[in-house]
Amino acid sequence: MPLRVFNYLTRGFDRFRPQSPQRVAQEQVRVHVCGPTLHDHAHLGHARTYVSMDVVLRHLRECGYRVHHVRSHGDLGHQAEAGVRRRVGSEALHDGSSPLEVVDGLIRSFEDDMDRLGVVRPNLTPRATGHIPDIIAWIETFLDLDYAYEADGTVSCSADRLPSYGELSRAVLGAGGEEAASGAAAGARPDDFPLWSPADPSDPMAWPSPWGRGVPSWPLSCSVMTAKHLGPSFEIHGGDVEDSITHLDQQLALSEAYHRVAPVQVWLLVGPLRVNGRKMNHRLGNFLTIKDALRLYSPEAIRLFVLSEHYRSPMEFSREALQAAQRSVNRLHRTGHLLQRRMREALPLNGAGTAALSNVSSLEVYRARFRAAMDDDFNTPDALGVIFELMDEVNRTLEQGPEEISLGTLSAMDKLLRDLAGGVLGLLPAEPGALVGEDLVVDLVETLLALRAQRREAKDWAGADQISNRLDQLGISVLDGPFDTTWRLRE
Ligand SMILES: [Zn+2]
Repeated sequence: MPLRVFNYLTRGFDRFRPQSPQRVAQEQVRVHVCGPTLHDHAHLGHARTYVSMDVVLRHLRECGYRVHHVRSHGDLGHQAEAGVRRRVGSEALHDGSSPLEVVDGLIRSFEDDMDRLGVVRPNLTPRATGHIPDIIAWIETFLDLDYAYEADGTVSCSADRLPSYGELSRAVLGAGGEEAASGAAAGARPDDFPLWSPADPSDPMAWPSPWGRGVPSWPLSCSVMTAKHLGPSFEIHGGDVEDSITHLDQQLALSEAYHRVAPVQVWLLVGPLRVNGRKMNHRLGNFLTIKDALRLYSPEAIRLFVLSEHYRSPMEFSREALQAAQRSVNRLHRTGHLLQRRMREALPLNGAGTAALSNVSSLEVYRARFRAAMDDDFNTPDALGVIFELMDEVNRTLEQGPEEISLGTLSAMDKLLRDLAGGVLGLLPAEPGALVGEDLVVDLVETLLALRAQRREAKDWAGADQISNRLDQLGISVLDGPFDTTWRLRE
């Protein structure tokens, strides 16, 4: 079955075929994902967007495509809105570091989170501050073409000169209904928007231009960076569906106006992560940072939690779902460990020849079903179902005596698990680490934590601490997060 992908712009499924000329042996897929708007350390909503995109790209590589992935950062200090720009500036002045240092620190913190979550690094991560002369040249072209006008140091884009402006958000609002509606009103005549804004004389993050000292818009910066590093037209633009309301709308319209060609073949957008029905967001304060989440759950558990929902569907944050993901990942890791131990113990000549061979060929059915699920618009919930069926089959096989299983069967199972659960979904650690979370241990620790919660409710703080101290001595960290109490075995 060929790969089919939902394209937000056409609101339909496209059969995916890269448009790039086949100059090289492998077909290339060029992908852009905007860097996040960071007002603080990245949160689980960001984890959802970037882990989902990571699995899309891993699957494309598995299909044999050469992926060229660019993630550009709008490190202009304003992070899309003036209020935040002032905030980043003032925070910076308080602790003596420059706004650029603050923004740089937030980006590095985000990139560190992505590394820890096993997100494959992009080929290139350009930054807007490194492209100011290109951005100014684009604005000059827009002025020459009468697409923009200048007044008092502000250069604005005439929305009615951009035929495609609003197309993406209209399509998203039509396709996703209320799910995406949080910004501009649907169907309203889009307003002119700034390409260059004057800066306060005291603002350290501003650049000289023909229109005075100022700051470029973030969507324009993205258009300039994608054109420079991916060309005027490329295969996939990924990201967060709610960004399409303004940021991606402007980006699409500006790129198309500049090159007079549709900039993106497929708009592939990830749904929101919600807390009690509202999008997880820095401004709403309803967020759990990736760093805090990684103290409570393993990277693979967070990935499994994200992948348990189809990438386009809105998803609800829940502590129970994350804990369940941790348990499932623990079982998966344990199966991987047992399999490897049996491989070390197995002798090459063990196993009844024909039975072992038929075993191996039936294993390929799992690979085909997994591939079919992923080819169907990256249906990770179905793909995970295949992984857990495979895991059950591996466990049943491991119950057989050593003389019944050949090393060949064990190796085939190990390779399959590594390719699919590890390579495509990123659910197996690169280095097989300590075996955590036998079911019994999980149940015992959770029983003790329920007891501790009862003591805390009764304000018996000493009694509650006694339990956490004892668990700590046993190598189990108990953590009281903003939403719940949870625990991890220390490495
Ligand atoms: Zn962008």
